[in-house]
Amino acid sequence: MQHFDAIVVGAGFGGLGAALRLAERGARVCVSEALTYPGGCASTFTRGGRRYEAGATLFSGLGPDQLFGRWSRQHRMDYEVDWVDPVVTLRGPFGELPVLRDREAFIERLCHFPQAPVGALRAFFDAQRRIADTLWSLFDTPASLPPWTASALANHTLSALRYAPLAAVVGRPLAKVLDYPRLRGFAPFETWARALCQITVQCSPDEVEAPFALAALDYAWRGTGHVRGGIGQLASALVGAIERAGGQVRFADRVSALEQGSMGWRVRSRRGEATAPVVLCNAAPGVVRRLAGLEGDAGHGLARLEARVATGWGASMQYLTLAPGDVHEAPHHVECVADASLPFEEGNHIFVSIGDADERGRRSATVSTHVRPAPSEPPADYFARVQATMTRTLSLRAPEVAARVEARMTGSPRTFERFTGRPGGFVGGVPRRAGLHNYTTLSPTTVAEGLYLVGDAVFPGQSTLATALGGHRAADAAITVIERASGRGLRPAQ
Ligand SMILES: Cc1cc2nc3c(=O)[nH]c(=O)nc-3n(C[C@H](O)[C@H](O)[C@H](O)COP(=O)(O)OP(=O)(O)OC[C@H]3O[C@@H](n4cnc5c(N)ncnc54)[C@H](O)[C@@H]3O)c2cc1C
Repeated sequence: MQHFDAIVVGAGFGGLGAALRLAERGARVCVSEALTYPGGCASTFTRGGRRYEAGATLFSGLGPDQLFGRWSRQHRMDYEVDWVDPVVTLRGPFGELPVLRDREAFIERLCHFPQAPVGALRAFFDAQRRIADTLWSLFDTPASLPPWTASALANHTLSALRYAPLAAVVGRPLAKVLDYPRLRGFAPFETWARALCQITVQCSPDEVEAPFALAALDYAWRGTGHVRGGIGQLASALVGAIERAGGQVRFADRVSALEQGSMGWRVRSRRGEATAPVVLCNAAPGVVRRLAGLEGDAGHGLARLEARVATGWGASMQYLTLAPGDVHEAPHHVECVADASLPFEEGNHIFVSIGDADERGRRSATVSTHVRPAPSEPPADYFARVQATMTRTLSLRAPEVAARVEARMTGSPRTFERFTGRPGGFVGGVPRRAGLHNYTTLSPTTVAEGLYLVGDAVFPGQSTLATALGGHRAADAAITVIERASGRGLRPAQ
């Protein structure tokens, strides 16, 4: 039986982030992934010789001083970014709004719509930027994200003044803070804010905890781009970096049980058994509870988290093959809202990502919308209805894309359940509905001695960048357990 310092269950971005951090600090780490490729919800899969992005398509944190940019440099990672501009084009009943790479130019565009409330718009974006700058600076330096260690607390106390603007917005929904109430009814802004909140923090401005939303509204301006060839390229580049740093990544190696014993954890997987003092699980809370046999009181925290995940969403998908079009067309993203008076879900709001062309000029496109994994009507009828609405919204708001569709494959929460092992097909993590409960689980989530949870169910969650950061933090927290168990010191954090 092999022994490691740490075993990571799952090669989603949470698991990959944790494994790379452990490997770069000198830990002997092994990743077991059930599928034959990395990335989970943010992967690229092949069907009929074509490549499609499974879920996630647009990524932040790729800038040179951000997490992926730094890793790319330090580990000579091989992937390229298309810095698409506009980052996204939003289309709705109000018309079209390009979300330009230049934040000021974007605000200027909003101000030029007829009857734009210019003063309120500028006041909102000034205040929003101050808060976003504070929160994103935490994202750029993972060590400064609160765990409540002495050094992190000292840092936070020193920069307490920077956090002062947060006091006025914590515990309140976005729609009630700053100048948002004065912007209500200005359709281009409201459509943008609602659409962005739905795809990032997974709920509406009326529901969402303001600091999370104010940071998420900056999504387009934080080292955001499309990974050439699909996000699978970045996931594979992370695997390469882990291996070069001395770690192992095993595919087609589903983990079936975690048992705690005198040597730490014994991990049973398709390829055999291994032990380690530390296990980081990149699986849904309910899966971890069952794998580790944590029933009753021992699994209470996980059961609570599982219930919070189940207040969230599933995804309904269309994977399209597009006929050759304009040869100069770059990969791009179009976000479409059919009817702004209806909820931004169930096909009324779709995110369309058009990828690179193959040698014949054909492109793959990924289209997604939020759905309820447990609908009140028969699931087959519900998902057929959502698919029909998605197709209608595409024809209405992106007719140039709809006209080129040569082939269409569909996906549902069951597809995500089957491929990523997420029970019920819940994706995107816990919706950040307003309340102080959002701040009670900021520390890396320890399930039991040496057993950590990573991924989008736990802080900071939601997105490839956030899950990779969460993995990085959990890895740093696990280092002391590894050092204690192995009796050797690992490389200090940098
Ligand atoms: C439709 C959709 C669109 C999205 N769009 C974006 C976007 O544009 N940009 C963005 O940043 N984010 C986006 N997201 C969110 C982002 O993709 C996720 O938050 C993130 O990828 C989740 O990563 P994770 O590490 O939590 O888990 P996952 O991606 O679910 O990875 C978990 C991995 O663990 C493996 N696994 C599970 N159980 C076991 C086991 N027992 N043994 C071994 N392996 C196991 C799974 O196979 C999987 O590979 C989107 C999500 C969806 C669904």
